[in-house]
Amino acid sequence: MENLCIPFRHCYSSLFLHQSQQKHLSNCSSACFSLDIKHASFETTPISVSLEPSSSSWDLLSHGCDNLVSVKATHARMIRLFDRFDLEFIAKCLISRYLEFGEVGYASVVFFLGFPRNQVSWRDFLEEIENFGAEKYRVLEEFVQLQNNGVNFDEVVLAMVLRICTVLMNRFLGFTIHGGLIKRGLGDLDTRLVSALMGFYGRCASSDIANKIFDEMPERDDLAWNEITMVNLRSGRWEMAVKLFREMQFSGAKAYDGTIVKLLQVCSNEGGLAEGRQIHGYVLRLGFESNVSMCNSLIVMYSRNGKLESSRKVFDSMKDRNLSSWNSIVSSYTAFGYVDDAMGLLEEMERCGPKPDIVTWNSLLSGHASKGGLSGDAIAIVKRMQIAGLKPNTSSISSLLQAIAEPGLLKLGKVIHGYVIRNQLWYDVYVETTLIDMYVKTGCLPYAQMVFDKMDEKNIVAWNSLVSGLSYAGLLKDAEALMSRMEKEGIKPDDVTWNSLVFGYATLGKTEKALTVIGKMKKNGVAPTVVSWTAILSGCTKNGNFRNALKVFIKMQEEGVCPNSATISSLLSVLGCLSLLYSGKEVHSFCLKNNLIRDAYVATALVDMYTKSGDLRSASEVFWGIENKPLASWNCMIMGYAMFGQGEEGIAVFNRMLEAGMESDAITFTSVLSVCKNSGLVREGWKYFDLMRSHYGVIPTLEHCSCMVDMLGRSGYLDEAWDFIQTMPLKPDATIWGAFLSSCKIHRDLELAEVAWKRLQVLEPHNSANYMTMINLYSNLNRWEDVDHIRGSMRNHRVRIQNLWSRIQIDQTVHIFYAEGKAHPDEGEIYFELYKLVSEMKKSGYVPDTSCIHLNVSESEKEKLLMGHTEKLAITYGLIKKKGLAPIRVFKNTSICSDCHTVAKYISVLRNREIFLHEGSRVHHFRDGKCSCNDSW
Ligand SMILES: [Zn+2]
Ligand SMILES: [Zn+2]
Repeated sequence: MENLCIPFRHCYSSLFLHQSQQKHLSNCSSACFSLDIKHASFETTPISVSLEPSSSSWDLLSHGCDNLVSVKATHARMIRLFDRFDLEFIAKCLISRYLEFGEVGYASVVFFLGFPRNQVSWRDFLEEIENFGAEKYRVLEEFVQLQNNGVNFDEVVLAMVLRICTVLMNRFLGFTIHGGLIKRGLGDLDTRLVSALMGFYGRCASSDIANKIFDEMPERDDLAWNEITMVNLRSGRWEMAVKLFREMQFSGAKAYDGTIVKLLQVCSNEGGLAEGRQIHGYVLRLGFESNVSMCNSLIVMYSRNGKLESSRKVFDSMKDRNLSSWNSIVSSYTAFGYVDDAMGLLEEMERCGPKPDIVTWNSLLSGHASKGGLSGDAIAIVKRMQIAGLKPNTSSISSLLQAIAEPGLLKLGKVIHGYVIRNQLWYDVYVETTLIDMYVKTGCLPYAQMVFDKMDEKNIVAWNSLVSGLSYAGLLKDAEALMSRMEKEGIKPDDVTWNSLVFGYATLGKTEKALTVIGKMKKNGVAPTVVSWTAILSGCTKNGNFRNALKVFIKMQEEGVCPNSATISSLLSVLGCLSLLYSGKEVHSFCLKNNLIRDAYVATALVDMYTKSGDLRSASEVFWGIENKPLASWNCMIMGYAMFGQGEEGIAVFNRMLEAGMESDAITFTSVLSVCKNSGLVREGWKYFDLMRSHYGVIPTLEHCSCMVDMLGRSGYLDEAWDFIQTMPLKPDATIWGAFLSSCKIHRDLELAEVAWKRLQVLEPHNSANYMTMINLYSNLNRWEDVDHIRGSMRNHRVRIQNLWSRIQIDQTVHIFYAEGKAHPDEGEIYFELYKLVSEMKKSGYVPDTSCIHLNVSESEKEKLLMGHTEKLAITYGLIKKKGLAPIRVFKNTSICSDCHTVAKYISVLRNREIFLHEGSRVHHFRDGKCSCNDSW
């Protein structure tokens, strides 16, 4: 039967061939003709030929035949008349009729051979086959059978078949066709065929082969250029595609709309602004600017590359805009957080543009969501959208819910939850998960649990939301219980689940526990990621366990996990707090090598590390190199200048920040007021304190007030400081009174000091620093009885004196000098050098300031005690160990005394060294016998 069938189909179709095609089939058609007749009742029942088709056959074709035989009969009847009719219409009808009866074979024959080429597109044909429930690959089978039976297809059909092979990923047939072509000789092939071949290789094999075929083409037309560009775009070789696009222009070929749109899309995703601009130039040169879809792609390309203004220019230049143009520009604005401008566009759209659709409204909503706090505006948008007749869908609701991220908004979150229930939007897993997430973020865990329990299908995201909610709330036992329940229900915890637990323990400062979780992860076949390690590292940092943080970082490297920008930022903050400048520099070069420096937050962490480590020059170099400086980096840099007492520079940076259009926050003003405080800029301090509320809308906190008290007091305006405390809007706390007490000590105002001291005894009875200040003050006034009284009070309150130390880093080792306890192994050598120095200094006029010793002992004893101050030992050790002119950096855990300050000035001249002496949040920079603080501290 098979043998009979194949020629039958073949011959039958030959009746319907266009004259040019009949030649190919002449050999086999006659042999099989009789079979065909039987089925088609063609010659046995001759039909009268008229110039018009009979109404019946016409109707049959267009409205359906009741059986296959009559379709064939009609088909045969049409053949005689084919020249006179709309062949495309006939072909389409015949294909549909045959497919109705499940005859993919006949339909394919009509498609391949039955009419002049290009009448029915192959895409339409494939779609039609699918619509009738047949398999598309059958088309290729029919083609192969026709070829096996000796049909010689021309290049147009072959090109079409290659396109089908490409879509259906039929590699074998594609290769066979190519093989056949090679045998024939590729020399003068139709470019449609060659293009189809490139398309086939690009999709089904390798774009290298496609590029090779293109290179070997003797002549290339528009189609070939566009094809090869698209092949490279599809395979992700966008640089090659852009190169081809340029060459295409030189060759004079024209790019198709589709190619340009696709190129622009790629430029939006790959950060190809320069290339995108070139394409824009091309669009303008060729007068494509009226092409709406191209302009829409340009809008998206510019905004994704951070050039919102250019997006707007393209949009404004468009004569015709469709809904997609408006949506593109609106979403560009919202992506940048310019929700107000986006709202302006919405008004314009409602006035003169197309009606905003759900996409427009949702992008406005997501703009609000990404801005962080949810304002009434987002709710207003939802209301307006409802008035416009559009119902918020799941995506609108999710945007709204994402914006609810603080406990104060819980009520609103519940209202939205109500809307979800009323409108039955809870079927959407995404909405359910964002609901859980919302309740977790607003701290309403029971509700999160409730939504979770009601979920029909709990996906891993939902489990993870709840586990992380419990972990972040510190309910780690509950989190672990939930994880075991998760496993019982057949869902394997993934790295996100485990990492929440790691984060939970790390944040509580339970480093060991967090490391145990890492071990469990490994046992469960989940590899700890950089996120896991960074969580522990930042947990240690937050809890001040800097040494542990360093250990964790080393362990992470031993495990072969590569740090990311978050790890590096955490690490830098550790190094800054430990003032490990050399390690910090190593991390800086790591950032340069790994291109992390372009991350503004890493760069800010570097600025912070350098200022804390006393290298202001490197800090400012990194700072000015940051392209889009975030607020944190400005704050950091201003604080750096504050530490070094460089008031003018600090205020200059603040002004530059305002010029750059940045909005200042509370931290900015802490930095600015610290600048004024440390540089004695009293008038500026008052100015900024007054402006911060009235002009910048930042409400003063206790920290700001304490800066003011400190600034006024240190500068000698004790009465003003007192008045400030009496009139300040907040209740003065220990930091305020502590700052005031230190000022009283500096200016030896016992009366006011005793007032402050009384308050501090209530507010902070265990802070040894306050007791020490009083002891210093009394001893300077030779009131030894009072000194004894304070010491007695310390004993009664069991206040322990803080151990004083200074440290210095020599190469990779940190040397710590304690005031009490173990002596440094090189102590002998250090004292020898120090005595030598002091005798040289005395020759230059140095007189030891024995008032710095608050013990009732002889002057010579006081001088000896002064020699033992840890910062002097550390500086001297630096002189011995650090060769050449390398600056000496010493860190002291408390404030330095005026004698050490004087000694450091002398050493900077006698040994020609720069000395950086850190005390708390201040740095004294000694050079040529002067200190950067101008002796006011
Ligand atoms: Zn000292
Ligand atoms: Zn100083």
